[in-house]
Amino acid sequence: MARNPDVIVVGGGIVGCAIAHRLAREGLAVTVLERGALGREASWAAGGILTPVHLAEYPGPLAELCAASVRLYPGLIQELRTASSVDPEYRVTGFLIVERDGAEEESNRTLEEWKRKNGQPVERLSREETHARQEGLAPSVRGALLLPDIAQVRNNRMAPALAEAARKRGVEFRTETPVTGFLRVPGRVNGVKTARGDLFAGTTVLAAGSWSGELLRPLGLALEVKPVKGQMLLTEAAPDLLRHTIQGGDAYLIPRADGKILIGSTLEDAGFDKRVTLDAVGELSRKAEGILPGIGRLPLVTSWAGLRPSTPDRLPYIGRAPMEGLIAATGHFRNGILLAPVTAELVAEILAGRPPSVPLDPFRPDRDAC
Ligand SMILES: Cc1cc2nc3c(=O)[nH]c(=O)nc-3n(C[C@H](O)[C@H](O)[C@H](O)COP(=O)(O)OP(=O)(O)OC[C@H]3O[C@@H](n4cnc5c(N)ncnc54)[C@H](O)[C@@H]3O)c2cc1C
Repeated sequence: MARNPDVIVVGGGIVGCAIAHRLAREGLAVTVLERGALGREASWAAGGILTPVHLAEYPGPLAELCAASVRLYPGLIQELRTASSVDPEYRVTGFLIVERDGAEEESNRTLEEWKRKNGQPVERLSREETHARQEGLAPSVRGALLLPDIAQVRNNRMAPALAEAARKRGVEFRTETPVTGFLRVPGRVNGVKTARGDLFAGTTVLAAGSWSGELLRPLGLALEVKPVKGQMLLTEAAPDLLRHTIQGGDAYLIPRADGKILIGSTLEDAGFDKRVTLDAVGELSRKAEGILPGIGRLPLVTSWAGLRPSTPDRLPYIGRAPMEGLIAATGHFRNGILLAPVTAELVAEILAGRPPSVPLDPFRPDRDAC
């Protein structure tokens, strides 16, 4: 009979796969249970920008968490290059935030101050410098802030790359295996019920994205995680049309290595509905036109929607749940691609009993997040 794993990870998105990959390095036997295929939900649908959009508006603890994860990314990518055949296309393409009115200028000034205070690279560009740096911008663009060190990944390749590397370390992945509940002895969780039978483990890590709250409810644990729908468009463009990822207001354009451009994204309260709407296609094209006139004439390759796991205070839940044997690693909202490496690191530290490399208090699953 196969032996029980030390750790069960519920959810095979980027967060679950990163955790499994990291825990296997600790010598732990890990099994990942995924309801469908690996990395096909939010982790697939995202943009892969490795900085929060509107960074200065995020609370301090999240900015610290993001900075820690940014530092971990190059090492992780290096590891994946040798341990996996999937290239997640990590590229430092920089982040250009354009200004077209007083509000955008004000927002950039706040971000610039924040960046300088935190010792992070930032360049203020005049109107001429901005247009010289990126051809074709709207004439209304009167300046910009450039964050030259910001990277991106082809996010839909991250979970498969992590999974391939994790398998080599002995992690078992069971796809098409929905977790339907938790196994309990008084006061602790000791495994999960699945559509294919029960599985026992000393620790269960909940990394089920937008579905995490629903899964926990039968345990009497209230972890507020709500889906926030985001729609995206993908266009065909000439390679090198964009030098940087460009943000204008609440829209952004992401240049992929193959020349395609991603246009994102909406923020919608639509429950678990992942259908693309004509309204969103129109809204995103209009916003993209306001940054780069003429982009609306490019062919639309495809469009999609994904569900960001959001929490009431917009901070993720990372840490021991108020029930023995259960760890939460969810609620990463708009930043889960960025935050996967640090989340995995923190879960490894918790299990090893090492002090956390980032203070965990703000992310406690039992905090009052409302
Ligand atoms: C449009 C959009 C743009 C985004 N852009 C960015 C960005 O640029 N940068 C960034 O950092 N982040 C971005 N994000 C956010 C990022 O995608 C998420 O924060 C991240 O993917 C969350 O990862 P996850 O693994 O927690 O969740 P998911 O990827 O949703 O994975 C959860 C997994 O759990 C599985 N699951 C659920 N219930 C069960 C069950 N009962 N049993 C077994 N498995 C189960 C699901 O099938 C799923 O595979 C964006 C998101 C969207 C939608």
